[in-house]
Amino acid sequence: MKRLYIETYGCQMNVADTELMLGVLGREGYVQTDEPAEADVLLVNTCAVRDNAEQRVIGRLGELQQYKRAGGVLGVVGCMAQRLGPQLLERVPRVDIVAGPDGYRNLASLIGQAAGGTRGSDTEFRSWEHYEDVPPVRENGATAFVTVQRGCDYKCTFCIVPFTRGPERSRKLEDVVREVRTLAEQGTTEVTLLGQTVNSYHDGTHDFAALLAAVGGVDGIRRVRFTSPYPTDFTDRVIAAMAEVPAVCEHVHLPAQSGSNAVLRRMLRRYTREEYLAVVGRLRAAMPGITFSTDLIVGFPGETEAQFQETLSLVEAAGFDDAYTFKYSVRDGTPAVRLRDHVPDAVAGERLERLIERVRAQARRRHLARVGQTVEVLVERPARRGDLLLGRSRTNLMVLLELPATAIGEYHQVQLTGTTGSTFTGQVVRPQLAVLA
Ligand code: SF4
Repeated sequence: MKRLYIETYGCQMNVADTELMLGVLGREGYVQTDEPAEADVLLVNTCAVRDNAEQRVIGRLGELQQYKRAGGVLGVVGCMAQRLGPQLLERVPRVDIVAGPDGYRNLASLIGQAAGGTRGSDTEFRSWEHYEDVPPVRENGATAFVTVQRGCDYKCTFCIVPFTRGPERSRKLEDVVREVRTLAEQGTTEVTLLGQTVNSYHDGTHDFAALLAAVGGVDGIRRVRFTSPYPTDFTDRVIAAMAEVPAVCEHVHLPAQSGSNAVLRRMLRRYTREEYLAVVGRLRAAMPGITFSTDLIVGFPGETEAQFQETLSLVEAAGFDDAYTFKYSVRDGTPAVRLRDHVPDAVAGERLERLIERVRAQARRRHLARVGQTVEVLVERPARRGDLLLGRSRTNLMVLLELPATAIGEYHQVQLTGTTGSTFTGQVVRPQLAVLA
């Protein structure tokens, strides 16, 4: 039996790709281990979006190489592998193989060659590659991520993704539905559909509205989520499907990146602040109670204090409940490298702190107003601390519950009893016992 250790960095797409690699190598007889010291093959599935993520991986490779035994293989896969390609083999001499997101089908042969002493890489883009014949290896659970689209055709100037994941391509609707049906048969009740601009999904015949209806119609699927959509790809059909398909959850993670039209233009985002807010308004009108989270970047080249203030004000105007906030990180190979007027790091850092403060204060205010409400919660997993379990409402509220571990996977009506500002405490609402006179 050959043992595989794999560490995953970055976004949900990478988590899904790790499950795919476990499927690819599982067919070759590999089983997963959590102990690097026991592994014949060590893989690091990487992210290239931010420079510090790449630096962390380089450091981690240094640590992992101590576990590499004679004949063992250390590999780098994912977006950083795609971005740096064979250069990585030169830069980190103990690395044996490098494979980008379209090269996972060749992992076994790269590993075989490396075990025989020939280091190698596969960073070719294959626009036909969907890994349709490879069942991902997942832990059985109530929730699952399903990749429906790979790559991206947009060219946001800050983003490395089009250079690491290649052009956009959608899986066939029938293939996605088949995978979701299998998951449902194994007990999954919530699926999250994954794509870089997931709502631009189109398989040549079906659009994202059709996909939502088809996935939401699978027996046993109670919740459908998706991430990340692109603001201007919310067509009327997609919004109507979201409102009409009961399984589609009332939460959208809608990356805005900036609240300033001047910055959005420099980022080559295809909407204005006003258009973004109009999409939020259309979604709120179609799905009352819907909540929004977002991604925001501060310190993009040329961003003035006044432009940053527009991002601050967008937080309130859009009514975000949460935001992933980032300080701009220049990535070699992206168009933004050529932009002038870089914002000094200290200024960007100070803006980031103010933005985080604004997002937290707003989330706290909005969450306090929800205390006392009763919501449906899917119990997902043990909480990090204590004996509590963590569940999630349809609107993406995270709720801590005092329940036995056997409750994982169950749905409960839960009254929200308090909030820390980001997470709620809750109590399962039990039916009142009838009082016999
Ligand atoms: S839409 Fe823009 S930010 Fe998103 S993956 Fe594509 S290029 Fe990157």
